[in-house]
Amino acid sequence: YFRELEKKGIHLNKPQIEAVRHFEGPLLTLAGAGSGKTSVLVCRTGYLISVQKVKPTNILLVTFTRKAADEMKERISKLPGLTRQHANQVQANTFHAFFLRLLKSRGYDQEILSSERQKQITIKIILRELGLEDTYQPETLIALLSSYKMNMISMDKIPEKTKVDQEAKEVFKRYESWKKTNHKIDFDDILVEAYQLLQRDPQLLQALQKRFTQVMVDEFQDTNLLQYELIKMIAKAHLNLFVVGDDDQTIYSFNGARNEFILEFTNEFKSAKTVTLDINYRSPDTIVGLGNAVIEKNTMRKKKTLQVTRESSSPPQFGQPPTTDEEAVLVVEDIQQKVEAGTHQYGDFAILHRAASNSRAIFEQLTMEEIPFLQFSMNDQLFYDHWTVKPIVDHLRLSINPREFSAMESILPTLYINREKGMHVIHGQELGNKKKYPLIHLMKLASLKDYQRKKVEERIQLIKSLSGMEPQHAIKKLRQKFYESYVEADDRQTLTVHKETVKEMLDELEASSKRFGTISSFLSFIDDMNNMHKKMKELNKTPDANVVKLMTIHRSKGLEFPVVYLIGASEGILPHTSALEAGKMEDNVSFQKNNSVKHAIEEERRLAYVAITRAMNELIITSPEYNRGKSVRPSRFILEPFEKEKTSGAVKKKIKIHDGKKRKRDGATENGEQLLITVLAWICTKDGCRAWTRIRTEVDQKLSAKKCPLCQSEMEQGEKKLLE
Ligand code: ATP
Ligand code: MG
Repeated sequence: YFRELEKKGIHLNKPQIEAVRHFEGPLLTLAGAGSGKTSVLVCRTGYLISVQKVKPTNILLVTFTRKAADEMKERISKLPGLTRQHANQVQANTFHAFFLRLLKSRGYDQEILSSERQKQITIKIILRELGLEDTYQPETLIALLSSYKMNMISMDKIPEKTKVDQEAKEVFKRYESWKKTNHKIDFDDILVEAYQLLQRDPQLLQALQKRFTQVMVDEFQDTNLLQYELIKMIAKAHLNLFVVGDDDQTIYSFNGARNEFILEFTNEFKSAKTVTLDINYRSPDTIVGLGNAVIEKNTMRKKKTLQVTRESSSPPQFGQPPTTDEEAVLVVEDIQQKVEAGTHQYGDFAILHRAASNSRAIFEQLTMEEIPFLQFSMNDQLFYDHWTVKPIVDHLRLSINPREFSAMESILPTLYINREKGMHVIHGQELGNKKKYPLIHLMKLASLKDYQRKKVEERIQLIKSLSGMEPQHAIKKLRQKFYESYVEADDRQTLTVHKETVKEMLDELEASSKRFGTISSFLSFIDDMNNMHKKMKELNKTPDANVVKLMTIHRSKGLEFPVVYLIGASEGILPHTSALEAGKMEDNVSFQKNNSVKHAIEEERRLAYVAITRAMNELIITSPEYNRGKSVRPSRFILEPFEKEKTSGAVKKKIKIHDGKKRKRDGATENGEQLLITVLAWICTKDGCRAWTRIRTEVDQKLSAKKCPLCQSEMEQGEKKLLE
């Protein structure tokens, strides 16, 4: 069989073969990134079918994402002696897809709340009913409810110690009963219902146990308690439970994932065999080296070493563009240049970012440059639709068109007017007299208190005064005149988004608007982006095209790409502010899962590790010098390995500095006279450190000393160099 595999170009190493040939009893493969774990699962499936004569329908193969499941099936269908049909008969699925199927087969016909958005709207309505809409963010409550469910804490066990506990619980109760009445379930309920069903129906469970004689789980490190219990139930009869994972890649703890399951697997299953894989086949030495150096600093992990198989011609690069917008320009131009040079195609590139909100600039740049790309994880709204910035955008809309009814809803709370009542009046009037202005209609609200009426009057004047202004100034004015104090005075509780985050979002909005001379051109840009966002959702349904992939690090798990850009590798982004402040956020919730700062930073470090280890050939890391108008330092995850290596003189091997020279267009001379981007930069010339910092303003140029972003040494006059 293994010779057959080799004929197909699949050369497995000894431990991989050992794992593939394993037939009975539990087995654990705990191994680092790119060491061929997923490949083992694929080949073992083939081995079981071809050599051990296991029926494909008897194999359950659990993966973390739909994309991963599809890829597995694709790879299985190409194994020696197998066909597409075999691959389709194997139950290769995500937990959710598998158990949803099971529920459907037992007559469950509830509609599934498919999008995060639907959930949010429902929770929002409930919050409104309870008069709590200004107290909690739906997202936070959804995450909390989810972690209760994934940790198997039923409604009656949810703590009620603090006021926040109690209010949250009331929301959850209403949400559950709303679903029941409306015959709906959400994503998490699929697993909860399946668990209850299997508890209630031993015959069904037995049938499953009998059928699935072989159970395999990929990305086992991100399994949560409920998923683990479900999988154990099914595998219990035969105990042929084969799991692979990497504790360094646990990145879903916030969602209840517990890497102790993987670390304690051999304690739980005493007969479990372990197989160690320690050769990384995915990436060259430099990338593996950086990944190792980054993850090494975590304390709560099983130590692993990874050997490498090839040397790199192109070590990881690091660049520090001035802003996120220029970071986006840098990345997009690099992609364009590589495609133009004929060495790469669009499908070779992935751009990874930490949080959904960090993709605003890159999304826009890709769109404007008409690069074919796909943004994954579209649960998130467009930046301009985020609740923190939408009211400002809507004020701008009203300043251009005072009859823009759709702009009203987000404005009402800032006038301290109940949304529902307000919209009722506005819509009522709209039907009667289309010529009137919604804000003026509002004055007719009989129950309007004097202070509210005064606010509406003032607001009408303020909106009028924006006419003819540049968008950036208009935004500044709105912030100064009322929005900042509105956000400030808003005594939202600890569960809500941090005030600092609101400020960051507004700074980002301002930064984005700078590029436009008029409010209307800014608004029409937002509308374009909105359309693109919708189109993207459609495109997302037909994956696999030859396009650049834009995704969060979370989404990139298990995948690999020839060229990876890790953008926003800065303190506050990666590690994310929320991690730096972990523990503060949810102080008032009695149910605590590992949310100390230490735990949170370790998870962020694992995210950095996952991102770095996705790259097959090239890795380009960037950290903007300014993020939303605030100066940010490069991520500690990137600086630390560098500091460690500095003394040993191996700096250049670890990380190569993006010096612009590679960025020449066709026909450019060797010394880079015709660069792709014209950059004015300070280059650090200390001991081979060639980190560059682009100069933003004349002021920066005049600064007498500037710290090097990487080695932190002062760049004295003589060490600075202008690169154009
Ligand atoms: P991750 O931890 O990121 O999920 P993984 O351990 O699942 O990684 P794979 O995705 O299975 O690793 O393999 C990484 C790359 O190495 C793939 O391109 C795969 O084809 C290749 N590979 C796996 N095993 C071998 C081998 N024995 N020889 C050569 N290449 C291999
Ligand atoms: Mg894998």
